[in-house]
Amino acid sequence: MYELHVGIDDTDSPEGMCTTYITCVIIEQLKYYGYHVSSYPRLIRLNPFAKFKTRGNGATSFMLRLNSISQIGEVKNIILNKVEDLSCLENENTNPGVVFLRGPITDELESFAINTIRNIMSIEDAKTMIQKLNAEYYIFKNGRGIIGALAAIGCPLEDYTFELLSYRLPENYGKKRNINHQSVISMDEKTYPQTFDNLDGKYMAIAPKTPCPILYGIRGETPDAVLKAHYLVETQEPIERYCIFQTNQHTDIHLQKINEIKNMQKYGCYIVSGEVKDTPWYIEGGHVFFKLKDDSGIIECAAYEPTKEFRKIVKKLQPGDQVEVYGGIGSQGTLNLEKIKIKSLTPVFFEENPLCICGKRMKSAGKDKGFKCSHCGEKIREKSKISKKIRRKITPGFYEVPPSARRHLSKPLIRLKGEST
Ligand code: ATP
Repeated sequence: MYELHVGIDDTDSPEGMCTTYITCVIIEQLKYYGYHVSSYPRLIRLNPFAKFKTRGNGATSFMLRLNSISQIGEVKNIILNKVEDLSCLENENTNPGVVFLRGPITDELESFAINTIRNIMSIEDAKTMIQKLNAEYYIFKNGRGIIGALAAIGCPLEDYTFELLSYRLPENYGKKRNINHQSVISMDEKTYPQTFDNLDGKYMAIAPKTPCPILYGIRGETPDAVLKAHYLVETQEPIERYCIFQTNQHTDIHLQKINEIKNMQKYGCYIVSGEVKDTPWYIEGGHVFFKLKDDSGIIECAAYEPTKEFRKIVKKLQPGDQVEVYGGIGSQGTLNLEKIKIKSLTPVFFEENPLCICGKRMKSAGKDKGFKCSHCGEKIREKSKISKKIRRKITPGFYEVPPSARRHLSKPLIRLKGEST
């Protein structure tokens, strides 16, 4: 038996197509010709800040078990012909890449994959690694896709989830998706938390809004769970095919835990602790910002408008609160919050005038003149204002953005086992 790993990326454009769909078609064709595709294909999400991504920066990979080396030629033809036929080659930013690797996944390849999830890589980096591994690559146009294709083969999956993707008939691409809303609510009731992110409040979160071939995607912990959920969803349009992917989605694999704010860089995703430096503020558009500090530096953190109710939690933070933030740094150098753990709340006080013996609140009698009561006329000279502790309207614990604002890689709290959320 010979193992052949196949990685594919950069086949789609904002106008259409999807690398997962092409992978699904290829796998069906390989099976039709009698090839054995081992286990589930993989959908690997890469750095959310990669410049040339179309949407969610996903690449795919799968593994074939071949009886003889001589089969490799036919397998490659099937795969490369489909990639060429189905990719959006007319779009200037679509640069498909396909990687074939015989043999095991090395530690170095795993590191390359983690780097592609956490940093920005070049086509040359991918070519160097492919050469080291004695692997092969095929490119269409500039072939940037080999970065993602190689990373999809190499990504370690210590933690993983599954996503079942169902696809539409081509004549329905771009049209309104016809999914029975009530059936999704009932599916969620029957399968949550084995499936998750099906709904966002009342809204259906399983259907994309783009003109791509996907009708819906159901995310969950096991293939059985997503399959059960799939059978519970009713649609008023036919499903052309579906495929279950094993994926690094919702694992937080993109986040690096670091000790010092000064070590954070643009386009990196981090977990870092610090103290809230100033009172959070809203800016036009409904985005909430605050500054987080530690002994090494300061980072601006943001809960953007799409994070909806999460912003209200962030707005309630006060200078001195100790928090751990989870998120990635975009081009402006601001950390885009995905989750926040409030570790401790600082006591906040406000000052008020003393009460009079008659029970009414006294008023200032003028600068350094004490207080007087406008009700009974009582005066006091020395007494200073009284400091009173404010009851904070948040409690320590974890808070997260809603499903519709969640990054593919971000781990939902329901998957954070053993942590108080
Ligand atoms: P979809 O999610 O719809 O499949 P996409 O958002 O995955 O689309 P692609 O069309 O795959 O976007 O384009 C992403 C491109 O960026 C690919 O060429 C991929 O190789 C490259 N890429 C991915 N991660 C990185 C990275 N960390 N550094 C540099 N390039 C990257």
